[in-house]
Amino acid sequence: HAKEEGKNNAQYYSEQLKTDSLERLALESSLRKALERQEFLLYYQSKLDMATGRVIGMEALLRWQHPELGLILPKQFIPLAEENGLIVPIGRWVIYTACRQNVAWQKAGFPALSMAVNLSARQFLDDGLLRDIKGALQASGMAPELLEVEITESMIMQDMPKAVRVLQELRDIGVRIAIDDFGTGYSSLSKLQAFPLDTIKIDGSFIHDLLDNAGDRSLTEAIIDLGKNLGLTVVAEGVESAAHVEYLRRHACDQIQGFYMHEPQPADEAVLSLAKWFDNESTI
Ligand code: C2E
Ligand code: MG
Ligand code: MG
Ligand code: MG
Repeated sequence: HAKEEGKNNAQYYSEQLKTDSLERLALESSLRKALERQEFLLYYQSKLDMATGRVIGMEALLRWQHPELGLILPKQFIPLAEENGLIVPIGRWVIYTACRQNVAWQKAGFPALSMAVNLSARQFLDDGLLRDIKGALQASGMAPELLEVEITESMIMQDMPKAVRVLQELRDIGVRIAIDDFGTGYSSLSKLQAFPLDTIKIDGSFIHDLLDNAGDRSLTEAIIDLGKNLGLTVVAEGVESAAHVEYLRRHACDQIQGFYMHEPQPADEAVLSLAKWFDNESTI
């Protein structure tokens, strides 16, 4: 009996595997066509300065408008794009589009906002990165100081000497560097000093339970202290409530980002939120 069940299980799993790999193949082939079919779009989420309460920047977040599957989030296709290398041209499109959007908002009369783009590991190690970033800055006319690239701890710990070189090259042209999802990796804090950085972003998972989890509070406070001591700007992501804001203000976090202020929105909606925010002279 057990043997039969085992066999059925094996059969089930092999069927499942076949379905999974077929789905994967289908996804991969539509991903290959997505760029030329212009199915990618960027959502934008605001970042606020705690001292003034004003919006000071935006982060570009990639979305895929799939013709049959609808709107797909990055975690559902970026790992695949990372594996097959498509992330390089897709990421290039992200950088160009975000820079153009930034300049368009400035031309529309908003104060100069920073624009953050997320990089993937493959893109970060790609030799064309600097050329792409320079190209996007030139094509858009955006001031390099307004562009911030977000990378993760694991990306820079993989090959430290190369990472230092790449970051320094970016720094030399004026681009700013942020460490995203900080606290979730395994980098030793002392190693951070070796890298030319501007910003650390405390991972949203620590902010989420801030008020009922003493461990998350001590981590958050430790990261804020560390950032200050290294002369970095500290951003909290995933800020979802007034209580989060209050706590982070009390602990002198520099900047905040999260659903409580603004959810990520497509450019045309984000600009309406921005206009409303600035017109009402809103602060947090
Ligand atoms: P991330 O850069 O850490 O971005 C923050 C994520 O948290 C975003 O998810 C955002 O929508 C979400 N978020 C923002 N505020 C809140 C909040 O208050 N509460 C909660 N629960 N979530 C919040 P999203 O857009 O699904 O992106 C997920 C990740 O995908 C990003 O994490 C980033 O690592 C990656 N990603 C996004 N766009 C790109 C891109 O253009 N290129 C690459 N390589 N990666 C990207
Ligand atoms: Mg990010
Ligand atoms: Mg993050
Ligand atoms: Mg991330």
